[in-house]
Parts: sequence; C-alpha cells; structure tokens
Amino acid sequence: MNETSNFIKTIMKNELEQNIVDHILTRFPPEPNAYLHIGHARAIVTNFELAKSFNGATNLRFDDTNPVKEDTEFVDAIIKDLEWLGYNPRIIVYGSSYFDATYEKAILLIKKGLAYVCDLSQEELARYRGDTQTPGTNSPYRNRSIEENLKLFEEMKNGKYQNGEKTLRAKIDMASPNLNMRDPVIYRIIHINHHQTGNKWCIYPMYDFAHPLQDSFEGITHSLCSLEYEDHRPLYDWVINNCDVEHKPRQIEFGRLGITNTIMSKRYLKQLVDEKLVTGYDDPRMPTLVGLKRRGFTPNAIKEFILSTGLSKINSTIDYAMLEHFLREDLKMKAPRPMAVINPLKVVITNYEEGKVEYLPALNNMENPELGEHLIPFSKYLYIEREDFLEEKPNKHWKRLSKDLEVRLMNAYFIKCNEVIKDENGEIVELHCTYDPLTKSGSGFKDRKPNGTIHFVEATTAVNAEFNLFEPLILDEVANAKTFKENLNPNSWVKKNGFVEPYLKDTKPLDKYQFVRNGYFSTDYSSKGDKVVFNRTVGLKSSFTI
Ligand code: ATP
Ligand code: MG
Repeated sequence: MNETSNFIKTIMKNELEQNIVDHILTRFPPEPNAYLHIGHARAIVTNFELAKSFNGATNLRFDDTNPVKEDTEFVDAIIKDLEWLGYNPRIIVYGSSYFDATYEKAILLIKKGLAYVCDLSQEELARYRGDTQTPGTNSPYRNRSIEENLKLFEEMKNGKYQNGEKTLRAKIDMASPNLNMRDPVIYRIIHINHHQTGNKWCIYPMYDFAHPLQDSFEGITHSLCSLEYEDHRPLYDWVINNCDVEHKPRQIEFGRLGITNTIMSKRYLKQLVDEKLVTGYDDPRMPTLVGLKRRGFTPNAIKEFILSTGLSKINSTIDYAMLEHFLREDLKMKAPRPMAVINPLKVVITNYEEGKVEYLPALNNMENPELGEHLIPFSKYLYIEREDFLEEKPNKHWKRLSKDLEVRLMNAYFIKCNEVIKDENGEIVELHCTYDPLTKSGSGFKDRKPNGTIHFVEATTAVNAEFNLFEPLILDEVANAKTFKENLNPNSWVKKNGFVEPYLKDTKPLDKYQFVRNGYFSTDYSSKGDKVVFNRTVGLKSSFTI
C-alpha cells in the first residue's frame, strides 16, 4: 500500500513528538441506517491507515443514538464491509452502550447550571434560534432552577411526556454567531423501541452531545470526521470542556469524497433501492461497497484509489476512471486472461477435419508466466466476436478479419475468410474460412504476416455465458440528487449471451478474469455450472491490448 502523507498525519506526528498524546486511537462511527458507500471508504481508510501508521488502533462504533432509522441488518452489513476491506477494529461498540454515562453527564450539566429543560415546540425552537443575520432569543424556560430542571429531566426519562413535549438544552449563548452554539438541544423524547436498548429509554441524546462524550469515554485521541462537522467543533469542545471528562479527544475534519456520475448520499441510494430503480444495495451499478464488490472491485483497488485521492480540507469529486485505473493495476498481473466471446459469430474451418478437437497450450496471463498455462481447444467450429469481422471492404487500418483477409487466431492458427453466409434477412450467420496448419502458434512461422490477431472460442466445448455490461447509472457527470431520476441511463445494464473457454464452467462467484480484449470481469453470485454469469468490472484502457 502507498505510504501517503497528509495534514492529519502531520498533526498526529507532531502531537506524539511533543507528548501531547502517547498513542493514536481513532474510530469509525457509522450510523447503522444504510449500507456503506465508497465515500465511507474514505473515512474508513483514513481512520484505519492513519492509526496503523503509528501502531495505533481504530474502534468501530455504531452511532445508534437516533433510534428512528436504524436496523440490525445494517449493523451486520457494515461489519462485513469492514472485514471485506481487510480492517480489524480494536473493538466493536454501540453509542447506545454509553446511554447511562451520557445521562450522568447531562445531570452534571444541569447541576452546573449549564443545561435546562425547555418546553418550546420544534417550530418555536427554530423561530427562537434566529439565523445568521439575527441573534436568537432566550427561551422563557432558560432560567428554571436547577432543582426544577433535575425534576423535569427525570420525568422526561421516566416517560411522563410525549414526543417533542420537552427537550434538554445546553445553556450556551443565544447570540453566538455559530448557530450550533445557540442553546442546542442535547436530549429529546422519542418513545420507540431501540434495536439495542429496547424500551429502556425514551429520551435520546443528540449526536453533538453524545459523540464527543463517546470519544472521550473510549479514549479516542483524534476524532476524524467529514467537513460538514467543522461548524460543530466549538460545540464538541464545549461538551468536552464542561462535562468534567478525564480524557480530551480532538476533532479534525477532512473533505468528503465524491465520484463523477454517482450520487453518494444514503438517502438517495435508499430511494434507488426502494423504487426498484436498481436490483438492491448490491446491484453492481451501485456505489455501495457491496455493489462494488459484486461488480468485481477489489479491496486493494478501493484502498489504493482512496489513498491516491489524498486528504485535504476541501470536498472533492474524483473521476470514476480513477477507480477503474486502480482495479486494472491490481489485477493486471494477478488475473488469468482466458478468451470469452461476448457477441458471437460462428466460423467454420472448411479444411479442418470434422469431429477432431486439438488442444493448444496458452499462458494463463501472457504478462505473467508464473500463473502457468492451460490448454485451449480448437476444431472445425469456432466463435469469434461479431465486431471482429467487417464485410465491406475495409481500409488499411482494419486489423481484423474480412473477406479474403487472413488473421491470426490467438494461441492457434492463421485463418482466411472465403465466404460469408447470410440468412434471408441479409444478416451474417456464419463465416467459411480455411486455416493454414503451418502457422500453428509457437511453430516459429514467419513467412507472412496476418492482418492482426483476434480471439475465439471453440464451439463444441464452449460454455454458455451471460455477460453483464455496465455504464454509469446516472448520465450527469455532476450527479444531482434532485434531478437524478430524469438522468438515469437506460443502458446502464446490458446483458449479452456468449461463450467462454471450457475450464470456466467451474468458476466461483467473485473470481476475477481479464477476458482477452474485452476487459476485467468478475463472476456473479447467480453464476451456475451450465450458465456462468460475469459482470464486467471495467473495460481495458485501450480497446486492443494484445
Ligand atoms: P450520508 O451523508 O451519505 O447519508 P453520513 O455522513 O450520514 O452519510 P455516517 O454513517 O454518519 O453517514 O458516516 C460515517 C462516517 O463516514 C462519518 O464520519 C462521515 O463523515 C463519513 N463519510 C460519509 N460519507 C463520506 C464521504 N462521501 N466522504 C468522506 N467521508 C464520508
Ligand atoms: Mg452522519
């Protein structure tokens, strides 16, 4: 993995050198309300790689303080995603396991005169808050006595009030230029069953109050989060400085990652799934980690991609092509390169013996002999790609097959096309060719040059294959959450039926290949022995790399 340096690494290094901290402990705090996407991968890779580079560790903490939208399905999925990326959290914890300790800190703030129970409704709260131009107005409940606040807060906890009837607010400054500091709500009433704590609580702490406390209880040294929390940092520090905590963590923000033609917000990904615009969270067109995995992306490619984008204090949108680049880099030398014909055209070798099949040796990966070799069948009946044949007289740049032209079949012989057979609609159904036995691959034949090299699959032994070919789901480069439905790409998933070499009948889901001249593919979960299914992960950089 690339060693990258970034501004957070510099901060950590300096703090270690100056003994401000003596170790590094970070956390990844997803809300278990959706599947993780590639944007989350930036937070994951950043937290885990930074900690690792200082021999530190990272906690996985489920930020489940909002019970309304959360579910254990997502908890399990997130744990699996991290495992897949190859990261082992030091511990797996739930924000909700700190509910008791967080409640104690709320009592402490009340006792210090720094929190009060407020009866304003949600709309009133918003009105009293003011805006960037106007200072807020103090709540009429702001000066309740400590005793009254303690009593009311306890009643809130005991379920005496309905949702929204009362809140607990920090007493900070209603005139602060930072709206987050205008007496923010730190506890609200929600009568609901929580997936971890059941019916124990009907009051829940707000993120801005719970998160710094959780970081402190766990001994997190650096609480890394995306840029939208920058304005919340003064509140983070206020909580840390007023709650008499033993350990003081530090919040540092970094820019969010976006990718072209991709919507990266959980809400919209959910909409795509709920409205059946995709087949599910693991649809190979989705930017979710489960989607990218099914499409064929590797953990390595994702990590290298994230590291290559660097880390800064600005949100950035990276070209999808970058992610593709790192997949090719990862698989170039590792993946076998069998032949697959995606859009088949039948070829009959008229001068080849009927019923004979010969087996010709071929390297599994011509750039990496260490991957060994296998045998490729050859007979009178073959398939080539329809696109590798041109009927009209081609110009001199055409380096594939045409009538009266001779090409090399990769790993086999030169063939020459003599006759084009069409059906009643004029569609080409078959080519009649002859082969030259002297041109056998590996024989050293040099007497003449073929008009290019194409690939093929022997027809009688070929395995039926389905190929899923993808384009961006959204046509907009700068995918806009509001208008994305008008810009859905009708060709984002095209299925083709073709053939692959016989040995691929045993392929297993997620096996990776570079199909010669066709790109990188990964075996789909739906693949079965008599019909194997492949997802094209990415094309080849240049269309013909032989
Ligand atoms: P979304 O905005 O997509 O709905 P979220 O930020 O609400 O996601 P969380 O579950 O809170 O999702 O995210 C966990 C962590 O991942 C947070 O620290 C968040 O800052 C970070 N994160 C989420 N999306 C991105 C992104 N696109 N780039 C970088 N970090 C991200
Ligand atoms: Mg969030």
